[in-house]
Amino acid sequence: MKLRLLYTHKETSRPVLATTIMKTGVPINILEAQMTPESGQMIVDVPVDNRRLKEVVSAFETEGVRVQEIVSTITIDFDKCMSCGACVSPCPVSAITQKTDWDIEYDEKKCIRCKVCVDACPVGAIAFL
Ligand code: SF4
Ligand code: SF4
Repeated sequence: MKLRLLYTHKETSRPVLATTIMKTGVPINILEAQMTPESGQMIVDVPVDNRRLKEVVSAFETEGVRVQEIVSTITIDFDKCMSCGACVSPCPVSAITQKTDWDIEYDEKKCIRCKVCVDACPVGAIAFL
């Protein structure tokens, strides 16, 4: 599951991520980070089941960080999609695949938020959320 972490100026100077990893023992992967002394936002991937995820969310919240779960990184508009496959091979982690009936399938767990598929689609069927 991916999480969006929202920092205020109070948390930006503290090792919130390191503390959460040490407390929970969960290896958290940073996908994006924008930090200034005033505030910040980080997108992290937390590779655990729901029970452990609650533990991680609670540890972040204890550190004062606001947490939002990211259910989906992209959406595919299947009314626009013409199953051309142009988004499949550019995806560096095979998060988009084409089924035998040519329909496109998306796996949120694999996605690393690179946006390559958004630019690859010739009809603008993929939106980045
Ligand atoms: S954003 Fe990147 S990783 Fe995610 S599905 Fe698109 S190409 Fe693949
Ligand atoms: S590139 Fe766009 S139109 Fe082509 S399969 Fe992917 S989503 Fe569909």
